[in-house]
Order: sequence, then C-alpha cells, then structure tokens
Amino acid sequence: MDERAKIRVTLPRENPTPSYWQDPPDDIADQRTTKDLPSHVDIVIIGSGITGAAIAWNLLKDVRPGEKGSRNIVMLEARQACSGATGRNGGHTKAASYRSFLEHASLLGTPAAVQIARLEYDNIQAIHAFAKEHNIPCDSNPCHTIDIIYDQAQWTAAHEAVTAMKAAFPEGDPVAEYTFHSPAEVQSKFHCALDAGTIAGEPQTLYGGVSYPAGSISSYAFTAGLLKLCLSRGLNLQTNTPATSLMKNRDERTWTVRTPRGNIWTKDIILATNGYTAAIAPTFQGVIVPLRGQVTAQRPGSNLSEKGCLPTTYSFIYDKGYEYMIPRPKGSRNEGDLVIGGGLVRAKEEGLGEYGTTDDTTVNEEISTYLQNTLTRYFGGGGDGGGGDRNGKGDDHPDGRIKKEWTGIMGYSPDGFPMVGAVPGENGFWMSCSFQGHGMVLCWMCAKALVEMMEGRDNEKLRRWFPEAFKVGFERMRKRFQGRLHTSVAVAPGPAVGGESE
Ligand SMILES: Cc1cc2nc3c(=O)[nH]c(=O)nc-3n(C[C@H](O)[C@H](O)[C@H](O)COP(=O)(O)OP(=O)(O)OC[C@H]3O[C@@H](n4cnc5c(N)ncnc54)[C@H](O)[C@@H]3O)c2cc1C
Repeated sequence: MDERAKIRVTLPRENPTPSYWQDPPDDIADQRTTKDLPSHVDIVIIGSGITGAAIAWNLLKDVRPGEKGSRNIVMLEARQACSGATGRNGGHTKAASYRSFLEHASLLGTPAAVQIARLEYDNIQAIHAFAKEHNIPCDSNPCHTIDIIYDQAQWTAAHEAVTAMKAAFPEGDPVAEYTFHSPAEVQSKFHCALDAGTIAGEPQTLYGGVSYPAGSISSYAFTAGLLKLCLSRGLNLQTNTPATSLMKNRDERTWTVRTPRGNIWTKDIILATNGYTAAIAPTFQGVIVPLRGQVTAQRPGSNLSEKGCLPTTYSFIYDKGYEYMIPRPKGSRNEGDLVIGGGLVRAKEEGLGEYGTTDDTTVNEEISTYLQNTLTRYFGGGGDGGGGDRNGKGDDHPDGRIKKEWTGIMGYSPDGFPMVGAVPGENGFWMSCSFQGHGMVLCWMCAKALVEMMEGRDNEKLRRWFPEAFKVGFERMRKRFQGRLHTSVAVAPGPAVGGESE
C-alpha cells in the first residue's frame, strides 16, 4: 500500500468514462457564468461535486434568488460540472452505521460513535428533504435497504453492533432501527437465492439479512439542481478550469489561485477536491489517497423484472468486501434498472491496483466480469457462478445485462474520517475532503459545519453535532494511509501548498 499511496496524485483526467447519470449531461455541464475569470474575489471554491455545491449553498442561502450577495464567490471545476465522484457514484443514501459503530466507540468513545451515527442519519434525511423542498428532479427515494450477509463473522458482528446501538440510543430512535431476517425470509421477501455459489473455492453461505431506513438518489441530478440554486444567487461557476496551483500572497493572508485561463486573487480558498486534493495541496500526498470505484447499470434479470421495481436497496456482504445494488425507483428515468457497484476485493491482490490511481478513463476488467455476474450470483439463474437454488431470478434480460459501466475516484484518509475545517498553520485556507465511499452520507453535514467554522461559529452548538474526529489538524495530517482499516503511521507534514506567488 505504501507504494500505491506514494503515486503522485494528478488533477482530474480528461475524457473520463461517462457515467449513467451524466447521459445526457446536464445543461450546466459546461457552464461559465462569465466569459473571463474574475481577477479578484472573496472566495474560491475548488470542486463542483456535492461538497462544493453544498458549501456554496450554505454561503449563499440567505441571498434572495435573482440577487447577489455581499461576497463574490467563484467555483472552479477542472472538468464538466459535477464530474467527479458525485457524478459517477451509486447514489446510495445508506449509512450502515452499525458496521462502524463499535469501531468508532472503541476508538473515540461511545458518545462520539453516537454523534457520528446521528450525523450520518441526519445527512441522509437532509438531502432527501432538500430535494423535496426545492423540487429538484433527482429521483430522490427514501426507502429501506437490506444487507444480505454471507459470512459468519460479519453476521455475528452485525448482531453485536445492533445490540450496542440499541443500548446507546433512546428507544424507538430511527438511527438505531434495524431488523434481522432469517435466510428463509431473505429468500421469500427479498428474492435472493439461498446461497451464492462458490467464489475462489469458498462457498458463499447465506446467514441472513439486516434491514433499516436508507434511500437512493441521482447525486448528479441533485447536485446540478443545487448548483442552479446557487447560480441564481450569484455563484460564478467556471467549468473546464482546473486550479493548477495555490500561492500564498506576500501579505500571508490572501491567495492567488492559478489556472490555465489566468490567476484569481482571493481572501479565502476552499478545497472541495476530495480524492484529488494532494494534486494542489501536496502536504496531503499519502494522507488523502485516491481509490477508484467501479459501477454498472444493469437490466434486471427476466424474473426480477417481473416483480416490477424492487422496493428496497441491497448490499451483499462477505468476509472482505461487498457489492451494492440500487433499483431505479418507480417513476424515475430508466425505472427498474439496477445500479450495481463494489467488488473491489475481487480484483488482483484484493484491488490493490485501484488505490493511488486517478484514472477514471477506463474500467478494471476483472471487476467488470465480477460485477456482470452479480444478479445470477445472488438471485440464482444463469450458468456463471449463480447460487445453489437456481430459481432463475437473475436470468438475463433478452436485451443483455449491461447498459453502462464507469469508474470514479474517491478520497481515503488514514483514519477513515473526512477532513473538514481550517487547514492548520494557514490563513483563509479551508477544506472539506476525503469522504471514502460514503459521501452521500457525510458531505452535506460537513459542508454545513465548514461554513459554520468559516463564519466564526465554531462553538459549543457546533460541537454538539459535529464530531471533533472529522476536523483537520496537524496530528491527522501526520498520518499516512495504510489501507481501509483504522491503522496509520505518523510522519512529518510538509508545507500545505507551494511557496509565495510573485
Ligand atoms: C464509483 C463510486 C461509487 C460511489 N458510490 C457511493 C454511494 O452509493 N453512496 C455514497 O454515499 N457514496 C458513494 N461514493 C462516494 C461519493 O460519491 C463521494 O464521497 C462524494 O461524491 C464526494 O463528493 P465531493 O464533492 O466531496 O467530491 P467529488 O464529487 O469528487 O468532487 C470533487 C470535484 O473537484 C474537482 N476538482 C478536483 N481537483 C480540482 C482542481 N485542481 N481544480 C478544479 N477542480 C478540481 C473534480 O473534478 C470534482 O468534480 C461513490 C464514489 C465512487 C467513485
């Protein structure tokens, strides 16, 4: 992993694999609010994913539509609007907090673990509520999800974690609402096969399922809608304009952002650059490490499509990894399609080669093959690795399985937490980055917290709901990413950015 984490992080690549959600691209995909870049602004936000858009919204939400606020804000986006992880993800608004609760409790204490689980739940609720309130056409679908578990240790751990959460939260609190299902129930209610065949010689035995509140959304459409609300309140969006370097001005308080289209002088810089952060803030090299994820959009097997749109979303969990499956909800574009992603550990060396790369212009063929067989594996049918009871629910659609396949870049931190707040040792330099595979569950609340900090409200009220563990600080910046576990080693941080501007 050390070698992968050392690979120099690049700016976002040209010509990424187009995602299912970007077909067709939104009409603001290539937006440039002004023909030329402004030379002086108050704030430069770098990145137009859900983080950049939610930060802009929190800065502008008190401005009336059609008016301009007191602060000039420009958003730079290297490629098309929302073409990073947000425009290329699975769209699962699923916290699965029970899967990290005990680890958080042992690392940070139970109150902090409770705070994180509540933030994740609130984040999901807030996104769906915002989409509804502002009528954003993004197929927002709060619903239940089921985790189908194929591993004894994971099944035992799920019971322990849910028991601990039920004890830690008030009775009836929806954050700790979990229901266990027997294998027979998983088969009858959720249509899965009783076993998922054999993978690499290991039988995939079904132990049962855990269901709980979650949801799905087109993160791309949601973020495009959010950006439009910001544009109507004076945001200047400049797409296809990478920030290539950040230079501290001689006054040590203001900044110059360099781009191929000219420089911008600004009082504040906000990094909303997720997995690409180290490309312009080199001190985060090896700290926030890119990880490429892969997703497919598939036609449901013939017997699954007979059931209409499946009402829940799914994850299929085994010893070292998982896949997730999001049925496109009723009334959505392409209703009934299944968005299926994950499978990282099924690639060579458990997916090691997917770390450190920013190359989302291509897919990993081993993961492709594995994901293409997801339906037959977990729902039976077909002849390629399907489960023991061949009930045919995963059989192919006559038009073929795969509609689209694409990749995207996530950002992973050594402790698995996002990095939010003022970059230590700098003036006017802020960040909200590194959301692992979990951004739809974290980015919204982190953006809100960041703006609270920027506007001087880093107080007791914020500390009541925002975890200290998410704040960026020297100690966290000294750690180096060692893999997707809570293990890390300490090294000295370098300067946050390149030297002074001339
Ligand atoms: C394949 C995949 C599947 C996923 N599935 C899910 C899921 O189902 N549920 C979930 O909760 N999370 C999921 N995630 C994670 C989630 O998508 C991310 O955590 C979240 O979108 C991060 O949002 P962001 O705005 O912080 O970053 P991004 O969306 O990555 O946005 C960063 C933006 O910054 C731009 N940028 C970077 N550097 C520069 C620069 N120097 N100059 C200008 N622009 C720059 C990028 O082009 C990009 O548009 C998935 C991620 C991937 C890749």
